[in-house]
Amino acid sequence: MISLTTLLDDAKCYDVLRGLRWPEGVMCPHCESLQVSKQGHDTTQPARQKYRCEDCGRHFDDLTGTIFAGRHQPLDAWIGCLYLMGLNQSNCQIAHELDLNEDDVQRMTEQLRMGIVAKTPLPRLSGEVECDEVYVVAGHKGHPDAVEKKGRKGRRRRLKGAPGRGTLEKEKPPIFGMIERGGQVVLRMLENVQQKTIRPLIQTIIAPGTLVYTDEYDIYARLPQWGYGHKTVCHSQGEYARDEDGDGFHEVHVNTMEGVWSLLRSWLRPHRGISQEKLPLYVGFFQFMHNVRCRGRGLLQPMLSALLTC
Ligand SMILES: [Zn+2]
Repeated sequence: MISLTTLLDDAKCYDVLRGLRWPEGVMCPHCESLQVSKQGHDTTQPARQKYRCEDCGRHFDDLTGTIFAGRHQPLDAWIGCLYLMGLNQSNCQIAHELDLNEDDVQRMTEQLRMGIVAKTPLPRLSGEVECDEVYVVAGHKGHPDAVEKKGRKGRRRRLKGAPGRGTLEKEKPPIFGMIERGGQVVLRMLENVQQKTIRPLIQTIIAPGTLVYTDEYDIYARLPQWGYGHKTVCHSQGEYARDEDGDGFHEVHVNTMEGVWSLLRSWLRPHRGISQEKLPLYVGFFQFMHNVRCRGRGLLQPMLSALLTC
């Protein structure tokens, strides 16, 4: 694990970055040659090593081609920012901790979230998969309980309502979730939860023939036609898990997905007033965190590795 003292030392930050970026030794980002010579250090950032490639003759440095190149803030500020994002600090808290302007921090965390989400490979789910949806309040400041799951019947009435009700719907965009039991999760903010919206997503992410567990919501009715096994749990009749084959395991449930919603709800809580434009980034970052199975300080290394992966 990367220690706190490393974050306070710019030279150590560069050491960590080089170790993660080039585990086999410094490699030219232009031609991938390992025949590289050192060419002194950056004039304003003394820990930043410069290089020349002996094969293609081009010059580069530790940050060339990474998300950290060409930035106003020094590397230790960026890595400190990532570290605090792993601790789920808000932009305001990070600005205080790093003694930076909150607008700068907002731009930095956004860039970092975008970088991590862009570098995250699309998972492929199989075996037993649960699908479920929630509404997230987005677009207004000061909503502490961001993820709403209660009152599903009311929600569905709204979803089926007349077109004039669009404003209310747009304040609570749906997040659609798919999780392989014992495996990875995929979360997406959607325009709506209609069959035509979820079908391409399901068919991209979930392998054909997979057994899919959902609640009784009718958007899932065509799963068998789309090439999947399908079992439903009937929430409206108070049923949360059913032992269908009588072996004592209550396998027909979406409790794994419900657990993810609960974690997402807590995780979003410090970030007041996430707009709908930003929400997919927060959700994508949460998905990354869930799938690397690291929390807190342990997240820094996987986040840095993801960002430094070409
Ligand atoms: Zn080269």
